[in-house]
Amino acid sequence: MKIDLPCLPKKIVLVGLNYRKHAKELGMDIPSEPILFLKPPSSLIRSGQDIIYPQGVKRIDYEAELAVIIKKRAKCIKESRAKDYILGYSCLNDVTARNLQKKDGQWTRAKSFDTFCPLGPCVETDLNPDSLKIQTFLNGKIKQSSNTSDFIFSVNYILSFISKVMTLEAGDIVSTGTPEGIGPMQKGDKVVVDIEGIGSLENQVV
Ligand code: MG
Repeated sequence: MKIDLPCLPKKIVLVGLNYRKHAKELGMDIPSEPILFLKPPSSLIRSGQDIIYPQGVKRIDYEAELAVIIKKRAKCIKESRAKDYILGYSCLNDVTARNLQKKDGQWTRAKSFDTFCPLGPCVETDLNPDSLKIQTFLNGKIKQSSNTSDFIFSVNYILSFISKVMTLEAGDIVSTGTPEGIGPMQKGDKVVVDIEGIGSLENQVV
């Protein structure tokens, strides 16, 4: 069933590197544990809203990701019970000011600008996340094309791992990393993140 977000999230938790081929593309080792970071709820926009290119930033990138919407409070949950805590799935674009990510050496500023977290077009409640086609189109041209079967860490593992660090609340969003093929966007570009079974998240850069 396709539904809307139940409420605004209190937090948005993301995994930094979770596709084998993307790790290879970056020349990085496969991580032994998920690398976590946060985006503020103030960065959230929906499908059809504009991504604002911040003044003074030199490069912003798209990152197509499968997002998990939390159903109920989750603290120290077992991997085998994680499904009980999932309301559904959505498309997320982890927009990143790449030059600032490199310059700052940590990710908060680069990931947190207003409008840097497009999510949508809906929450799909009836979906198996283990083998979904995930794609990015920039001005109609395909830029990322992968499958969640390339995940390093499964959705259930990630939720259990995060819940042992911080309590997840109903409506919180967990994003599962981006596949290979990341690249920059310019003002005027139209970016589409499409995930099998969910639909297309469409935004324009202004
Ligand atoms: Mg990302």
